Amino acid sequence: MWKRLLESRSFYAIALALMLGAFALSQVRIQTNPRPMASLEAIGQLGEIEDLNIVFILIDTLRADRLSAYGYGRETSPAIDALAADGLRFARHMSQSSWTKCSMASMWTAHYPVRTGVTRSADAISPEARMPAEILGEAGYDTYALWRNAWVGPSFGFSQGFEVYHSPRASKVPPSVRREKPTVGMAGTDQDITLSAAEFLRTHGEKKFFLYLHLMDVHQYVYDEDSALFGTRYSDIYDNSIRWVDRLVGGVIDDLDRRGLRDKTLIVLASDHGEAFGEHGREGHARDVYSEVVTTPLIISFPFRLPEPLVVDFISENVDLWPTLLELLDLPPIEGADGRSLVPEIQATIAGETLEAEPRYAHIDQSWGRTEEEPQPMVAVTEGPYRLVYREAGRGPRRAELYAYQPEQEENRRIDTEEPEIRRRMIELAKAYLESEPPAWGDAPEVELDDAQLQQLRALGYEIE
Ligand SMILES: [Zn+2]
Repeated sequence: MWKRLLESRSFYAIALALMLGAFALSQVRIQTNPRPMASLEAIGQLGEIEDLNIVFILIDTLRADRLSAYGYGRETSPAIDALAADGLRFARHMSQSSWTKCSMASMWTAHYPVRTGVTRSADAISPEARMPAEILGEAGYDTYALWRNAWVGPSFGFSQGFEVYHSPRASKVPPSVRREKPTVGMAGTDQDITLSAAEFLRTHGEKKFFLYLHLMDVHQYVYDEDSALFGTRYSDIYDNSIRWVDRLVGGVIDDLDRRGLRDKTLIVLASDHGEAFGEHGREGHARDVYSEVVTTPLIISFPFRLPEPLVVDFISENVDLWPTLLELLDLPPIEGADGRSLVPEIQATIAGETLEAEPRYAHIDQSWGRTEEEPQPMVAVTEGPYRLVYREAGRGPRRAELYAYQPEQEENRRIDTEEPEIRRRMIELAKAYLESEPPAWGDAPEVELDDAQLQQLRALGYEIE
C-alpha cells in the first residue's frame, strides 16, 4: 500500500499543497501585525483582557530628548518610535533621581527617595515595602526579571516578588561591537538579556507573564558597526548606542509578534535617568538633578493599536508609573504611595482639558558613594513652568536656582530675581520635602557590600569608597 501511495501522482500533489500551505501560514504569522485597531475607550478596558502579559523594558541612562519619538533630529530609535506611534507617550516625564539605585527604588515602590530612604550606597529597599512584582505574582502572573546593573541586584531588595531574578552570564562580545566608555569594565552586552528573553518567551510564553528587562548598553556606550551612524564624539557615541539598543528592543517586539503574543501583551518602556553632556558643567549622571539627567521617556504600547498616537503633555514621573499601570490593569494599588495614577492626565488629554500643576520632586544625595561623609541632599522641585534646584548647606554653600521650565523640558533661563515670590515658595516646598515622614514600612535597611559587589559596582564606572 505504501508503495502504491508513493507512486500515485495525487500523493505528491497533496504533499506539495500541504508544504505550500504550511509555508504560507508561516509567512502570514511573520508578516501581519495581529493587533487590532481600537478606540481610546479600549485603554479603560485593559483590565478586562484575560491573560494580558506585561513586558517592561527599562533602558538604563536613556534621555528622552535623544529619541526620535521625542523630537530628536537624528533617527536613533525606529523600533521605540513605532511603539509610540500607535500607543501612549508621556511627553514631559521625569525620573526621581539620576542614580540608578535611588531612582529604581522610587519607581518600583512609588515613593519619593526621601521616603524610600534608598539614597546612599549601602541602602536597600525594605522587605516590608510593597512591590509591583508581588502584586502581579498574587494576581497570577509568572514574574521574571533579566538584569545587568548591579545597583538593582537582589541584595538591595529589588528581587522582591520575582520568581526568577536573573543576571545572564556574559557571552563573548562579537568583533563588530564596540565599548567606548573609558571607565567601563563590564562584560557582555544587552544581547545577553534579549537572547535570554527570547528563551523565556519560548518556554513560558503560553502562561500569563510579567517580564522585566533592564538593559545597560546605553549606560556603557556600547554599539556595533551597523549602529555607528552618528559620529565619534562622546555625545554621538551615546546616540549610536541608543540605535543599537533600539534594534535589540525591536528584536524582542518581533519575537512577541512571531509567537502570536503581541495582541495580548502590554509593552512599557521607561528609563531610570538621563545623561549630561556638559549642560551644567558635568558629564555622565548620578551627581545632580538638573533636567538633562532626570528627563526620561515613558511609552506604553497596548495589545491594540490606537488610530493616532496619544501624547500626554502634563508633567509625569516614574513614581506614577506603577500606580498608573496597576489602575489600568484593575489590580490593587500600592498603599500610601507618593506617586499616583496618571489616568486623570490621560482622560484630560483625550477630553482636551487642563489640570492644575502639582509639585514634583527629584532627589540625589551628592555624597552617596562616600560612606564617611554626611548626606548632601540636592532636590529639584518642578511645578508647572518653574523648576527649582535646591541644595542645603553642607560641604558647599546653600544653593537655590530657579529656572523657567517650558516648553523644551530643560531649565532654559534663570529667573531668580524676576520671580522672588515663587522662588521663596519653592524653597519651602523643597525643605518640606526633605522633612517628609518615612513610609509605613519604616527606614531603609543597610547592607554590607562585599568586595565582589564593590568590584561589580565600580565596573559600572562609579567611584565608591
Ligand atoms: Zn542607571
